Amino acid sequence: MEINEILNLSAIELAEHIQEQKVTSEEAVRAVFKNIDECESNVHAYLDFWKEESLKKAREIDEMIVNRASSGTARGPECRGGNRLSDLELPPLLGVPVAVKDNLLLTGKKMTCGSKMLQDYIAPYTATCVEKLEKAGAIILGKTNMDEFGMGASTEHSFFGATLNPKDYKRVPGGSSGGSAAAVAYGGAFAALGTDSGGSIRQPAAFCGLVGLRPTYGSVSRHGLTAFASSMDVAGPITRGTRDAAALFNIVTGPDSKDQTSVFAPKVDLAEMEKYDPSGKRIAIPKQLFSEEAKENFEAISRTGEFLKNNGARVDLIDMPVLDYAVAIYYILSSAEASANLARFDGIRYGYRASGVQDITELYRKTRSEGFGKEVKRRILLGNYVLSSEHFNDCFRQAERARNMLKKAFDEAFSKYDLILCPTAPGVAPLLHEIDKDPLSTYIADLCTVPASLCGLPAVSVPFPRKEDESDSASKEEDAAVPSARALPVGIQFIGPRFGEQEILSAARFLERGGQKI
Ligand code: GLN
Repeated sequence: MEINEILNLSAIELAEHIQEQKVTSEEAVRAVFKNIDECESNVHAYLDFWKEESLKKAREIDEMIVNRASSGTARGPECRGGNRLSDLELPPLLGVPVAVKDNLLLTGKKMTCGSKMLQDYIAPYTATCVEKLEKAGAIILGKTNMDEFGMGASTEHSFFGATLNPKDYKRVPGGSSGGSAAAVAYGGAFAALGTDSGGSIRQPAAFCGLVGLRPTYGSVSRHGLTAFASSMDVAGPITRGTRDAAALFNIVTGPDSKDQTSVFAPKVDLAEMEKYDPSGKRIAIPKQLFSEEAKENFEAISRTGEFLKNNGARVDLIDMPVLDYAVAIYYILSSAEASANLARFDGIRYGYRASGVQDITELYRKTRSEGFGKEVKRRILLGNYVLSSEHFNDCFRQAERARNMLKKAFDEAFSKYDLILCPTAPGVAPLLHEIDKDPLSTYIADLCTVPASLCGLPAVSVPFPRKEDESDSASKEEDAAVPSARALPVGIQFIGPRFGEQEILSAARFLERGGQKI
C-alpha cells in the first residue's frame, strides 16, 4: 500500500489490514515516523519516542502473523492446548502505532508530566490503561507533551516548551493533552491516550479536529495515571473518528483491583453505533453553555440541533442555572485536590532535588520553588487557600455542596432527556501566548467541559462537520506547508448519563456520517 493510503486508515481499519496481511505493522510504523520526522520540529507533540524499538516490535508482530497464516495450512504448527495458531483470535489493535500522554506510566520510560520536577523520573511500572493497550497489540511509540501536571488548556504550560496546533502553527492545540491531539492530527500516531480532569481530552480534540472521549469516571482505571484532581481524573482516547474512540474505550475500560474507584462499565457495541436513529430522542441544549458571543460555536450548535430535529429528534433549550457556578466549583475543588496530590513532590522521595540547601525546610522550599512552573504554583496556592481553616467552610465546603446541586441538576435533566448537546469550547483554538495574558479568562473558557467532569459523566467531542462546499473552499485556500487559520475546527459535545458511552458515541457517529448535510 502507498504510504498515504496507510495513513488514511483508521486505527481499527489498520489493525484489520495488518491481520489480513494487506499491510505490515512495520510499514505502518515507518509511515508514522515519516510524519514525525517531518512535523515534530514544528509541532513538538512528543516529549519522547522510540523508533527502533517500535520497528522491532512491529517486525515481531508481522512475523507472528505470517506464522499464524502458514499454520492455517494442513500441517501448520500447533500452539499450547493443541489449538492452531491460526484459530486464535488476534488482539484488536495488533501492530497499530499509538501514543500516550506523559502523565501515564510505562515501565522503563521517562514520565515527566511536562514538569521539571519529574524530568528524569523513570516509571517503575505501567499504568493499567497503557498495559491494556499493549495487551491489545498496540505499539506504544512515544510519550506526548502536556501542560504541567495536566493544569492548563493550551499545552503552553509544559516545562519542555509548547506544542503547536498542526492545523495552524500560530495557534495552540488546546490542553492539557495537546501533545496527544497534535500527534494524531498530523498523523504521528493512529490514536492516542489523553487524560481529562476538566476537559483535557475533549478540548484539544476539538481544537485539532479530532474525536475525544472522556469516559464515565471510574470506568477506566487510574492506576499509573499521575494524580491531579483525583475525583475527576480519567484516561480516554483521542482519535480521528468515533469508531476508533469506541474501540479504544472498549480496550481500556474495566474494573481494576489496583484502583478502588474503578467500576465495571458496559462496552460500546460498534455495530449498534451505526444503527443510531435520532427519531424520538430527546436532546437538551443548556442555555448557559450556548452563547451567541462565540459565533462559530453558536452556529455549529444551532445547525447540529436543526440537523437532529430534521432527523426526528426533539431538541429543547433548557435552563440549568447552577451551571453558572461550574467553573468556580471546578477550580476550588480541583486546586484543593491538586495541592494535596502534589505535596508528595518534596525533593526527598523522588523527582527533582534542589542543591545548596542548609536544612530540610529550605530543601522543601527550594525544590518546590524551582521544580514547579507558574501555573502549578498558582493552583497549589489556590488549593491551600481554600483548604485553610479560615476558608474551608466558606470555599471548600460550599463548593462541595454546589457540586452536589450540579449533580442533581444533571440527574433531573437526564430523567427527561437522553443527551445533552453543547459546544466543547467557547471558541476556536486561541493564538499562542494569548492565554498568558489573562489566566482567569482561560479558566472561564473551561465552562463547557467542567460540568461533565464534576459529575463523573461521559462526554465526547466530535468535529462539527462542515458542508462540503464550506470545507472545499477552505481547503482550496490552504497551502499544505503553512496551515491556514481558515476553517479552524469546532467541536460539538455530547454529554450522557453515567455509563452512557453507547448513546453519546452513537449520536456522535450519526453526526460524523451525515455531516456533509449539516
Ligand atoms: N483546563 C483545565 C485545567 O486547567 C483542564 C485540565 C485537565 O482536564 N487536566 O484545569
